[in-house]
Amino acid sequence: MGEVVLKVGLIDVDGHNFPNLALMRISAYHKARGDEVEWWWTDFFHYDLVYMSKVFSDAYSPDKPEPLNADKVIKGGTGYCITLGEDGKEHFDQSKNHSLPDEIEKMFPDYSIYPQYDFAVSMTSRGCPRGCQFCHVAAKEGRCSVKVADVSDFWTPETGKREIKVLDPNITACREKRDLMRQYRETGCWIDFTQGLDIRCLNDADIDDLNGMKIKMLHFAWDNPADDLEGKFRRFAEQYKKKGHCKTVYCLTNYNSTMEQNLYRIYTLRDLGYDPYVMIYNKPDAPKEIRMLQRWCNNKIIFKTVNRFEDYKPFTR
Ligand code: SF4
Repeated sequence: MGEVVLKVGLIDVDGHNFPNLALMRISAYHKARGDEVEWWWTDFFHYDLVYMSKVFSDAYSPDKPEPLNADKVIKGGTGYCITLGEDGKEHFDQSKNHSLPDEIEKMFPDYSIYPQYDFAVSMTSRGCPRGCQFCHVAAKEGRCSVKVADVSDFWTPETGKREIKVLDPNITACREKRDLMRQYRETGCWIDFTQGLDIRCLNDADIDDLNGMKIKMLHFAWDNPADDLEGKFRRFAEQYKKKGHCKTVYCLTNYNSTMEQNLYRIYTLRDLGYDPYVMIYNKPDAPKEIRMLQRWCNNKIIFKTVNRFEDYKPFTR
């Protein structure tokens, strides 16, 4: 007797603003088994199994009620492991962290469930040695960046996709980064390192690879004001050949930094030809001045018009 065909429902709790890699793998796995897979959409039909996946914490992506019409509901994803502590900060709860079973984890993503996106996504390394306190990567994936897959596990020419969004948390700290960078370069696709590159780890070979890749935009981070990264950013700006390119640098605010330190990073980056982008830790509880800083800096029309934040504070008058 063959295996029973299951009716499987998928719920992307974060909404459909970005393809959820786990759900794409789950879909591929069940379709390969011959199961029926669809987005869960109503309580009127019966489902044998429903998967709910959530990447973001409740602060950004509130949980949804469990469906009533499923024999079994499996909830997973980083968003379900993040809890708000008594200190008002988010913590990663390791006891809630369940990885996908190996047979699902190795599936090639089923891109057909997100027809609205024409790019591939990849996660070729996991972990990060930095352990920044506001970030859950080290707690979830460990303090070492290790290769976990090849680019061909996420993208092949047959997908027809011409862009790959790389979700690796810190590929530049990965021991096998030469191999991975070569693989990305050889796809000939546009490469988007969505989680940012670690300017502290970039060596000359990395910069050569980046110069040889099709890249529309680069993301870096300068989160900790105690890190003196001006020299590193200056060196990269000099060696990176695509001078007109947008090089965004995330600057974390509302987390152990003063306004003076926030502005130092923003002004320094702008003077070096980067595009600073303010991120706010715990945005729902952030002071108004920080939200104004974000609006001033991230709205590029305002940022180009009003040269100094000190001149963009109508609310204080
Ligand atoms: S460097 Fe980035 S990925 Fe690594 S711990 Fe810090 S914020 Fe997280």
